[in-house]
Parts: sequence; structure tokens; C-alpha cells
Amino acid sequence: MSEKQFRLYDSLSRKEKPLVTEEPGHLRFYTCGPTVYSYAHIGNFRSFLTADLIVRTARAIGWKVTWVSNITDVGHLTDDDIADATGEDKMEKALRSKEGEQFHNVWELAEYYEDAYKSDWRLLNLVEPDVRPKATQHVREQIVAAEDLIAKGFAYETPTGVYFSVDKFPEYGKLSGNTQESLRKGVRDVVMDENKKDQSDFAIWKKDDKHLMQWFSPYGWGFPGWHIECSVMARAYLGDTIDLHSGGEDNKFPHHECEIAQSESLTGKPFCNHWTHTAFLQVNGQKMSKSLGNFYYVRGLVENGADPLAIRFALIAGIYRKNLNFTDQGLDDAKTNIDRFKRADAAVTEALESGAAGEDAIGEELDSIYEQALDAMLGDLNTPIAISKALEGAKIITRDPLTKAAAESGQRFLDRVNDLLGIVRHPEAFAPCQEAAGPAVDEAWVNERIEARKAAKAAKDWGTADAIRKELSDTGIAVTDNPDGTTSWSVG
Ligand code: AMP
Ligand code: ZN
Repeated sequence: MSEKQFRLYDSLSRKEKPLVTEEPGHLRFYTCGPTVYSYAHIGNFRSFLTADLIVRTARAIGWKVTWVSNITDVGHLTDDDIADATGEDKMEKALRSKEGEQFHNVWELAEYYEDAYKSDWRLLNLVEPDVRPKATQHVREQIVAAEDLIAKGFAYETPTGVYFSVDKFPEYGKLSGNTQESLRKGVRDVVMDENKKDQSDFAIWKKDDKHLMQWFSPYGWGFPGWHIECSVMARAYLGDTIDLHSGGEDNKFPHHECEIAQSESLTGKPFCNHWTHTAFLQVNGQKMSKSLGNFYYVRGLVENGADPLAIRFALIAGIYRKNLNFTDQGLDDAKTNIDRFKRADAAVTEALESGAAGEDAIGEELDSIYEQALDAMLGDLNTPIAISKALEGAKIITRDPLTKAAAESGQRFLDRVNDLLGIVRHPEAFAPCQEAAGPAVDEAWVNERIEARKAAKAAKDWGTADAIRKELSDTGIAVTDNPDGTTSWSVG
């Protein structure tokens, strides 16, 4: 194992410091995943990409990484950005929307968007997490945690649910600065609920026998609060104290603040030693929003001709702690750079086959450039420098005709850069945007079936619409209903 230090800004101590693992050389890492009520957008993916780069960098210095990234399929409410959840469950709201009409129930909707998320994940060439647990698979543990918190005096039951008593956890606010005192002074909105002991208290369990996803608990029918899922899933897979936890900057409060309060009250131990938060992605200088028409999904950009690796490149091109502005120009520049790697890769492949014998004039230089790229990543994920080093190497590879020996060095460099940054090539299995090999597709038949399904949906004949979707998927055709009402399809 290398002696290199991995320095990363820690949002809890508010300084950059070495990432220290409890078990030497083994990073236990948890990342808050998406709520699967819609497609994950490129802003979400910016945060996931930060986590992906951390995993790649840790592995590059020989660490073992156990990476857990959850899927939220219940309990995230529309007004969760205030200290205590209120509003509707995002999943239920999505089912009632126009886009939700294609699904028979909320479970089917969750499954659909989960699949979409995983395929976008692969398109952007992210490393697969070791575990991708779902909130709905861990409801039992969430109920046990609620019981435990009540038994230990940290939580209490009301007519509407089970609430964490922020009073009992004086360190509340240590991550976000939103202490109970400041919440009482109105620094952030809190949900007013006369059943709560203090307005800053937050929900662990919501009683609701009308909710579409409900479980029976000691408090009757209901569903878990959003924060408890991450506390129990992190503990279930990574232990009482984890090394690193990441999410977008909006997760700091209330989500991560509440996770800390619950977990530390449950175990009496520190929950997490190092916290990473990614600054928000903006699009053409503005917040991404459907009404501004600047709301991008990975699949939409790809359907419009973007190279998935160029999207990845554009999303990691800036320092993760600063807002990143995603622009058409940025995407074009990313494509130009991705093509530089492709040319270097092609030159290496060709020279490995037919290059002349002779000296390796570039190996040492490439090794040193790779080390500089790695050092940049180890210095709080300095992607702009790491990428510029990677490009410098690609330029050297394409400078002069390569001998076979030089091509071997070139290949080693590109392999290592690809492992570190994921921008040289896709693993072949993850190339869904390239022309799919396989049996020829009868396009006229597919289009006819899609029209028939559209007509069935218009007549609200869900059975027929579903049967057609299955008929298509049985022949390897995946159908996607786009938010703008159109339907697209792909093979595989
Ligand atoms: P959600 O599906 O809302 O739970 O979000 C999934 C992840 O994406 C969370 O870690 C969010 O903090 C993060 N996120 C949401 N919007 C953005 C954005 N515009 N830029 C970066 N990260 C984001
Ligand atoms: Zn979470």
C-alpha cells in the first residue's frame, strides 16, 4: 500500500485534513443516493461523481473501499428542506402527476426510476457501489431504531408520529450551524405542529394509514421519516462509526444534521469522521429548474447527441466545492478533450500491433505526469489539475510515432488515468449509446406497437398498454416515456 495521504475538506471540522480510516487502508464510505420519483438530473450526478472520484482515488493508492449508496424510495417529502418533514411523499405526488400516469402503482414507479438511474449511472461511467440498499428494504431496522430511540429517551410518540427530541442532543447543529437555539429564533423555517415538544424536533416515523406505502409498527400504520433510513443503512453495512459520508450541499441540513443526531444517540459513538459536500451545479449560470427550461437529464443529453464521456468530463471539470456552471460550450470543449484521449488510445492500439521496435522515449515522463495527476486528486480532488495532467499525457502519446515499447507505456498511462478519472473509455459492457450489436430490429413493427400503446394509454386501457410494453421488452426493446409526452425506444 502506498504511503500517500488523501486530503479532503471536511465539512464538520470545516477544514481540509487527511482522510483517516478506522481500519488502516479500508475506507468505509456512505453516499446519499437519489429519491427515485423522477429521473436523476445532472446536478444529482455531479454529487454522485464526487463520490465516484473519491472511490477511484482511494483505490488508486491501494485502499480497499466499501461504498454504500442508498436509494430513497419512500419517506422523502416535498417540504423536507425545512427542519421537519411536511408536505406530500415525493413518490405519491409523482404517481399523481402526468408523468405518473404510465404506472399502475407507486412501487412500479419507483422500480422504473431506479432502473433509469442505474442505467444513467453506467452511461456516465461511475464505479458501481458495493451495496445499493433501498429504504423500503430496511423498514424493520428503521422501526427498531425508533423503538430504541424512544427507550433511550431521545424520541417520543405523538398522535402524528414519532419525533426526535432535539433538546436531548446538545450537539445538534454542529454540522450545519443550525442549532436548536437558532432554529427557535427562526433562522430556518420549521414545521409548526402543536403535538411536538419543540418545533425543531423532527420526524422519525409518520403515522398515516392512507399512505400508499405503509408498514405496521408499534405506532400503527405509517412510514419512516427520511433521515432515519440513512442512519440505519449506514450502520447496517458499515458499522457504528463510518469513515466518510457524502452528499450535495443541500443535504447538510436538515438531512445530515438529523442523521448525526439519531445515529450518535443510538450508539453513543461518533457517527462519521469525515463529511464531504458537493456544491450545486448550475446551468448556463442559473439554478436548474423545469420552468426555466434548463433542466437536464443524462439520457436527454445523450439522445441529443452528447457523448456520455463528455458529459462526465464536463461535470467533473470544476472543483467540487465550488458551484459549477454547465454550458453548451463546456460540453463542446469536453467533447474535444475526450476525443484527444480517444486519439491517444487509438494511437497506442495501433502501435501495439504494428509499432516499430526501439526505445521507450516517453515512459518516464508519463509515469511522472500520472503521479502529478494522482497527487492533484489526493489534494482535495483537484480535478482541473488532474485533468490537465491527463491531457498533457495524451498529447505526449500523440506527439510522435510510437515504438511498441512506448505504446506499452502509453497504454499503462491511459489505463491508470481511466481508472482514476473515468474519462478515457467506457468499459465495453457499458456502451449502450454505441450502435448495439445483435439481431436486426424491425423498426416499423416497433413504431406500430408504440403507437398502439399510446392509443391504449389515451383510452386509459392500462392492461393493454402494459402488455405492449412487455411484448416489446421481451424482444429486447426498452421503451422510455419522456417528460415532454413523447416516447422513445432503444435496443438492449
Ligand atoms: P435527491 O434525489 O433530491 O435526494 O438528491 C440526490 C443527491 O443530489 C443529493 O445528494 C443532493 O444533495 C444532490 N443534488 C441535488 N441537486 C443538486 C445540484 N443541482 N447540484 C449538485 N448536487 C445536487
Ligand atoms: Zn441520506
